[in-house]
Amino acid sequence: MQNNKSDLLTVLKSCRQSFIVIGIFSCCINILMLVPSIYMLQVYDRVISSNSYSTLLMLTIIMVILLLGMGLLDWLRNLILIKISLKLGVILNDKTFNITFKNQLLNNKSQSNAKPMHDINGIRQFLTSNGMIAFFDAPWVPIYLSVMFLIHPVFGWIGFFASVIMIIFAFLNQYCTKELNSKANENNLFAVSYTTSSLRNAEVIEAMGMLTNIRKKWTLYSNKALLFQNKNSNRSTFFITLSKTTRFLLQSIILGAGALLVINQELTPGLMIGGSLLLGRALAPIDSLIGSWKQFINTRAQFERLKKILLETSDEIEKIALPKPLGKINVESLIVTPLGSQVPIIKGISFIVNPGEAIGIMGPSGAGKSTLARALLGIWPASNGKVRLDSADIFLMPQSEKNKYIGYLPQDVELFEGSIGDNISRFNTVDPVSLHKAAKIAGIHEIILRYPDGYDTSIGIGGNTLSGGQKQRIGLARAIYGDPKFIILDEPNSNLDESGELSLQKTLKYLKEQKSTVIIISHRKNIFQYVDKLLVLANGVITLGGGRDQVIAKLYPPPVKN
Ligand code: ADP
Repeated sequence: MQNNKSDLLTVLKSCRQSFIVIGIFSCCINILMLVPSIYMLQVYDRVISSNSYSTLLMLTIIMVILLLGMGLLDWLRNLILIKISLKLGVILNDKTFNITFKNQLLNNKSQSNAKPMHDINGIRQFLTSNGMIAFFDAPWVPIYLSVMFLIHPVFGWIGFFASVIMIIFAFLNQYCTKELNSKANENNLFAVSYTTSSLRNAEVIEAMGMLTNIRKKWTLYSNKALLFQNKNSNRSTFFITLSKTTRFLLQSIILGAGALLVINQELTPGLMIGGSLLLGRALAPIDSLIGSWKQFINTRAQFERLKKILLETSDEIEKIALPKPLGKINVESLIVTPLGSQVPIIKGISFIVNPGEAIGIMGPSGAGKSTLARALLGIWPASNGKVRLDSADIFLMPQSEKNKYIGYLPQDVELFEGSIGDNISRFNTVDPVSLHKAAKIAGIHEIILRYPDGYDTSIGIGGNTLSGGQKQRIGLARAIYGDPKFIILDEPNSNLDESGELSLQKTLKYLKEQKSTVIIISHRKNIFQYVDKLLVLANGVITLGGGRDQVIAKLYPPPVKN
């Protein structure tokens, strides 16, 4: 935990030197920003009055050099910010990816938890935005205003008044549009997620002609979002125009006031023009700050969220590799309660599976079979009790060990963007011998060879180009790839045809020979001919357990003959 305490801050602190350099550059840039005003002043007061070409040339050369220098510093400042943003990404991306992934697992996909990834991207974007630069430029507003006061107090007061009025308009704008904005976002978000879920179910919608009804619901949220956006834009446009007009007005007024001062011989024409240019300079950082204020508020929230989550999530400590487990599963008084719920689904169950044994778990829908599988695989933590593989708590098992020793065929086989070979080999460096062996046992080798690219065939996102049975066989090959010691098969025959069923039987025989520990979850009785023991689960407890034949006999007693 200690290490995480300041993960985000540590990265930013390690960039302290870069921030100091940016500060120094900003200082120089802002001083150089005065160059156009000073040039203007000199041109009016020296060149025009003396008609001197050489002075004009000299002044112009100096001005060009200084402004090019300013451009160079500005470019370097941006490059440094890009580097900091990159560093933040490189150091924290892996960790935020892991956290996002773990959150998703524990909340059982009930909500999208992609926030840490989203947050880090938001922070990185802000670092390279105009908003970030505005923060370095903002301290210069009072300095510019002071210079204006030095030119003439009237200029100073006009500058001060202009700055205050711009800030007031920005606040009014934000205050009047805040609620409308969040309502528009809320409805927009709903409309977008509604579209996403509808697209996922496009076939169902088409098959049953539901499109009009689905669109009606989408239109409802979409129109609401449009309405709020419209109201919001109307209000916002009013304040933006007001602010723009005031600015133009003040920029001309300052020139008028300057002319008055020149007539009264309180100011030179050069100072009049230079001073009015300064007003634009003083207002520029305020403009950028106002423009990026919303982004800043969002980034601050993202920063706090990410800091908190990095603090709460411990690093997965990579332990010293354990010897290959024998495959004994020990479930000790296991209670499993989903995160955020008070009601346990698995209510205190204990059993042992010896190395090389195969057991079946059956029970009605909603009995808790999948939840038990999640706990057995260390996906969900036990709220009480433990699941051990040999002597190690499976929930604490590092990913690298799970990759070698555990196999899992889920009910809905999920395949990933990549080749068939990648998917079977779990995206490890492909070992052709193990790959072909797993595919042959799962009965998919011949089918794969029929594709022009064989094992290199790309399967597309979600494996959409494959049939349900093919996906399940590839999932089976993935589960047994590398001869893991402990394998869970969840409804392994739900999509299999006759030949698929034969391959599954072959696989189970192979696993038995390998002395792998196997747990099969199913409601089909025929698959259990390959198991040694059977457990019957109902309402989160084991209602019946023992040798397969005894349990089957109790569940399905032979009809009594009269
Ligand atoms: P089975 O696999 O035997 O059909 P499950 O383990 O999927 O049963 O579910 C058992 C019970 O737990 C069900 O009543 C289900 O609604 C509930 N359940 C499953 N997942 C969650 C969750 N993430 N949060 C709350 N309840 C859940």
